[in-house]
Amino acid sequence: MTIRIETRGDVLRRTCKVMVIAAGMTAMMSFTIGMLVFGRDLSAPITVGQMQLFGLTAGVFISIALSGAMSYRAGLLIAQTRRELAQISQTDQLTGLLNRRGFDTEAAAALDQAQANGAAVAVLMCDIDHFKSINDRYGHEIGDRVLVEIADVLRQFANRHGALVARYGGEEFAAVVTGLTHEQVAHGAEEIRRDCAGRTILDGVTLLPVTISIGFTLKDSGFDLGNLMRTADQALYAAKRHGRDRVEHARDAA
Ligand code: GH3
Ligand code: MG
Ligand code: MG
Repeated sequence: MTIRIETRGDVLRRTCKVMVIAAGMTAMMSFTIGMLVFGRDLSAPITVGQMQLFGLTAGVFISIALSGAMSYRAGLLIAQTRRELAQISQTDQLTGLLNRRGFDTEAAAALDQAQANGAAVAVLMCDIDHFKSINDRYGHEIGDRVLVEIADVLRQFANRHGALVARYGGEEFAAVVTGLTHEQVAHGAEEIRRDCAGRTILDGVTLLPVTISIGFTLKDSGFDLGNLMRTADQALYAAKRHGRDRVEHARDAA
């Protein structure tokens, strides 16, 4: 059930619709109760007892049915709102990728699954090179477009390898991928690096060169997300130190 209530008009339309439904239900129930209490003979006289019985029965049944229907509907709306809020709180609004909170939750589940399946886990940390100077030179709006482009490269990587990808921080992206060999992960990371460098982002006149640095680590068992992230981060810093626009690997010692 997807209900969009965005404007005052939406609220009014929805309220009118509910009132029409409630009026219809009331009429139907009154008619049914009337038929049961008074019988089908329309020419038969009505007794005071029948009137009292009709009033009481109709009042009780209609209020139970309507309040039950309203409570059910309110329950559905609350459940839907909770689901949407949970999704919003785990999504990065600019790129549509998972945010850090969403990543931490889903990555923990992916690690448990990999442990159960005996699959290796790789964590990749990616950071846009000299992003501050892109912002300074071309403005924040272009900076945001760069983030969207890089997110798109990561989304394609996720689709190719069944990876979990997220915007982990400002201009930092993280990925978890399971069941791949060291060579496959190194190749995947290299693909991300190359695809980012190959993206064209225009600011009207200039073609912006955008590069990213990537650090990754891979482990066969005994996963700890915090350790894996720290190790991948160390590899990322090595990639920065060694000149950027490159992929580095670090062994998880824990
Ligand atoms: P390095 O190559 O060492 O990573 O350098 P850097 O400039 O990329 O790194 P630094 O940490 O100095 O700068 C990160 C910049 O990212 C600073 C911040 O303004 C920018 N940033 C963070 N979030 C956003 C965002 O949502 N939009 C835009 N346009 N910029 C952002
Ligand atoms: Mg950076
Ligand atoms: Mg950074």
